[in-house]
Amino acid sequence: MPQLSAEQTRSLESEFPNRDWLERQSPQTILRWSLETYGAGLTMATAFGAEGCALLGMLAQIRDETGLLPDIFNLDTGYQFEETLDLKRRIEDKYGFSIRAIAPDAGINDAESDSRDVFEQPLYQSQPNLCCYFRKVVPLASAVDGFSAWITAIRRDQTPERASAPIVGFDAQFPLVKINPLANWSKAQVWDYIRADKVPFNPLHERGYPSIGCWPCTRAVQNGEDDRAGRWAGSDKRECGIHVDLGGKASVRVG
Ligand code: SF4
Repeated sequence: MPQLSAEQTRSLESEFPNRDWLERQSPQTILRWSLETYGAGLTMATAFGAEGCALLGMLAQIRDETGLLPDIFNLDTGYQFEETLDLKRRIEDKYGFSIRAIAPDAGINDAESDSRDVFEQPLYQSQPNLCCYFRKVVPLASAVDGFSAWITAIRRDQTPERASAPIVGFDAQFPLVKINPLANWSKAQVWDYIRADKVPFNPLHERGYPSIGCWPCTRAVQNGEDDRAGRWAGSDKRECGIHVDLGGKASVRVG
């Protein structure tokens, strides 16, 4: 696949002449632009949240119209809900996608055993930032190695940290161009698209889980709670380190 150096990729950021234009475009147009601009150097990470499912439905439609499709992968932490793993299979069956499962080097049994030796608890309880680093950030860095750009499903109104996410920008952490086609969309727009296009989605959404991550760190939310209140509940952690660099060890290189 075509591979840009970090310097070449970084220089692209100052050369996004379409940036203002992209801000006014639909997610489908942004996806088509991404496919035409980055070609085989484009990848997408999905955890199969509602937003990711909507993007996959759009990509399937674009693939049918143009034959273009990016690489797609899921970070298989070992702690995903069964419903999430089943959703991956349903999406692959419906759309004919092959979605790469990217797993950390250590399985959860070995990782938990090592963690108990030091912290007397699994890492997700004692050191959740470190757990996310080993099970998400490092595998993601490996998964995007060799690509020029990646698509994510974040929206600006999800968290204060995501409020300034551009449609297209440079992600210094990995490093590559980062495209957020849904940055301007609301939750209602995402669900309108899912229902209109009959996109498969996680049944946990209908059981009080608006945001779904790993099962040890996700609970259902109560009426009136924020959509992400069920993620790392009881702590001040709000991000896994993929979309917000948590600093230090989360700045990674592979290879
Ligand atoms: S969300 Fe929880 S279980 Fe999943 S990688 Fe992060 S700390 Fe570990």
